[in-house]
Amino acid sequence: MSIVQRTSLHAIPAYKQGATPGAGEQAFKLSSNENPYPPLGSVIAGLSSELGTINQYPNAAAPELVGALTARLGVEPETIALGAGSVEVAGQLIHATTNPGDEVLFAWRSFEAYPILAHVAGATPVMVPLDGHGAHDLPAMAAAITERTALVFICNPNNPTGTVVDTAAVDAFMAQVPARVLVVIDEAYVHFNTDPDSAIGLDFFHRYPNVAVLHTFSKAYGLAGLRIGYAVAPPEVAANLRKTAIPFGVTALAQRAAVLSLEHEDELQVRIDELVAARESLLAELRTAGINATDSQANFIWLSTGDATEAVDAVLRAAGVWARAFPGDGIRISIGSPEANKAIAKTVISALAEAPANA
Ligand SMILES: *Cc1c(COP(=O)(O)O)cnc(C)c1O
Repeated sequence: MSIVQRTSLHAIPAYKQGATPGAGEQAFKLSSNENPYPPLGSVIAGLSSELGTINQYPNAAAPELVGALTARLGVEPETIALGAGSVEVAGQLIHATTNPGDEVLFAWRSFEAYPILAHVAGATPVMVPLDGHGAHDLPAMAAAITERTALVFICNPNNPTGTVVDTAAVDAFMAQVPARVLVVIDEAYVHFNTDPDSAIGLDFFHRYPNVAVLHTFSKAYGLAGLRIGYAVAPPEVAANLRKTAIPFGVTALAQRAAVLSLEHEDELQVRIDELVAARESLLAELRTAGINATDSQANFIWLSTGDATEAVDAVLRAAGVWARAFPGDGIRISIGSPEANKAIAKTVISALAEAPANA
């Protein structure tokens, strides 16, 4: 007799973490879009004074952080909802907006967590293929909205292709979205986005009553290990996000680290600028070598290696570049330290020479 379990879980894949090289292996972990810089000294120093209170639950209202965010973003405190990473908040958004079987619409390929979160919430994921350039096909997404659609994710820049949607395209999309449907702009990589035509989530939040924005401290701010992210959402949605949140999911350490990061944004900006510059010079070098890599506005690059993906990934792996391969589709490689970026350029060029692909 086996234990009774939820049958629909058979159909749900477990979230797959980016592969990590074994201890002592000479390799670069470039599979999870982590920040290659160590945490800021000021963040570490501030956290050590917080360690003495870990016998207590955190203040779930996080007044210090909410205050810092409202000042930074120019929004009201009741619009902010926190979570243990923005992936938790993405789950809260699905729980807060969908009734069983309602549809959650997003582009594919996009963030791996969306279909899993939708299934776990009892919603139905609806995936609209990216266009031939790895970008959101917003007209096709608008056409895929039904009376069951409750939520739309637009991942901008898109993980894993690095493409962005422009303001005019999102305005045209919004004109076709019924006001009852919440559109979430997931901006996990917004700090690396230097495209002046790109849609900016907060602008859309201010201009439309049915838009929310997802931000995280994991990527540009280098706090992936502490798990903290947030939504800026219409107040009635934000109130329901708080209801669906796991109680005390956001620790006091995470809150403090986020506040300190906002206080030291100029130091972080230097690092962000360096990562953006490294991305651009890597792309330029690959193109000089005849490789047609997709433009990226994130802290990673995308190679559409198609059927050659596993072969190319094996060559990269052997050379110490641990990327994220999506078999049959492409490879995402995070921008890393200067040494890592050198290794990426060298190995991608030789890997694509060995396993010619349509990248
Ligand atoms: C990394 C990522 C997130 C969130 O990460 P957290 O660590 O949970 O904040 C959200 N969306 C996308 C598209 C991401 O790539």
